[in-house]
Amino acid sequence: MEVTEKVLEKKFDECNKIYFNNGLPYPFFSIFCKKKPFAKFTYLKKKKNGENVLVYKKISVSNYYDFTEEQLRDIIVHEMIHYFIAYNDIKDNKEHGKIFLSIAERLNSEFGLNIEKTRSTSSYLRKENAPTIN
Ligand SMILES: [Zn+2]
Repeated sequence: MEVTEKVLEKKFDECNKIYFNNGLPYPFFSIFCKKKPFAKFTYLKKKKNGENVLVYKKISVSNYYDFTEEQLRDIIVHEMIHYFIAYNDIKDNKEHGKIFLSIAERLNSEFGLNIEKTRSTSSYLRKENAPTIN
């Protein structure tokens, strides 16, 4: 499927309702065209009145691949777990640490998702008209 900002917004909205109790405010969405990484979550945290607050958050996904609906869902939920951890100012022991994995495992078993720490891009089809960039 074609990945656009609109598509990301819609998927985010669906996933936020089903998996995160609608608890995550809309981030920015953006598209880039790279083989790797195929998605990322970026944010900026600032201290406000002694509390860490996310002042900027963005989910970006590559449109290099022809993801299936399920692949895109798993990719977005993966980034949303990073977002959830940052938004709630939770300390994990590493990027895909204990907290990340426990949330991923719970969603996988409860909803039949397939969220992994890392994923080989060989499981993704390249989009037919994707330009050749790294
Ligand atoms: Zn990750």
